[in-house]
Amino acid sequence: MSLTSKTALVTGSTSGIGLGIARALAQQGANVVLNGFGKPDAIETERAAIESEFGVTAHYSAADMTKPGEIAAMVAEAEQKLGAVDILVNNAGIQYVSAIEEFPVEKWDQIIAINLSSAFHTMRAAIPGMKSRGWGRIINTASAHSLVASPYKSAYVAAKHGIAGLTKTAALELATHKITVNCISPGYVWTPLVEAQIPDTMKARGLTKEQVIDEVLLKAQPTKEFVTVEQVAAIAAFLCSDAASQITGTNLSVDGGWTAQ
Ligand code: NAD
Repeated sequence: MSLTSKTALVTGSTSGIGLGIARALAQQGANVVLNGFGKPDAIETERAAIESEFGVTAHYSAADMTKPGEIAAMVAEAEQKLGAVDILVNNAGIQYVSAIEEFPVEKWDQIIAINLSSAFHTMRAAIPGMKSRGWGRIINTASAHSLVASPYKSAYVAAKHGIAGLTKTAALELATHKITVNCISPGYVWTPLVEAQIPDTMKARGLTKEQVIDEVLLKAQPTKEFVTVEQVAAIAAFLCSDAASQITGTNLSVDGGWTAQ
């Protein structure tokens, strides 16, 4: 598989799953547009590493996924600087945990904006170019929470169920244009973010590291193993291949059996 001469824009790719997907697509030869927040030095280090390791062009956009104007400008800039957006990965996401009656209204709006509406805005801006070139791949990072719910995650679960529906609608609209649209639904993914929670949880609950992993983090995941960033990234790369050209409108679970229960 080679993605040489393709350009991939990955939202929320300054860390975690998005960065893993951007690196996997660059490894296949795609030029990439990184997006997300973080320390400028750290972002520049990741951007430069992608260029030097994989011999591609990597561009960074600081667009805020809560701002439709910045999203449209990011897509336009990518098309102008790198020639196209052939692969669009909607991955930026945040979480907030609270009972509905205490859920801050601004947090609800922010999660719906970043985890759901930003994907509508990026697609709206990128689809015309994909249609005109007669090829495209749209991949949305959903979650096991696009299929099942957990208490206290109302905005996240609503947004992730929403992105699963948006994926299916876009797949049908674009089916005859050689543009596929799919979502990937990970369970718990081992990211620095997750790892960093372990010491505090050990202290707060008086548990060992193994107990935190099995009884708290991986309670819902039958394999009792984390999904890795690389596993999710490899599936995203596969969805960009010719072998996946008839896979569209699907929701691919990568959750160690979570949603089989
Ligand atoms: P992460 O915190 O490591 O990465 C999130 C990325 O989104 C970062 O690059 C961050 O800067 C960016 N971001 C946040 N707000 C933004 C904004 N307003 N504008 C632009 N970028 C913004 O988290 P992650 O675990 O890699 O999560 C990535 C995606 O995977 C999310 O959609 C998340 O819901 C989903 N997911 C994660 C897990 C998990 O266990 N980690 C499981 C299922 C789904």
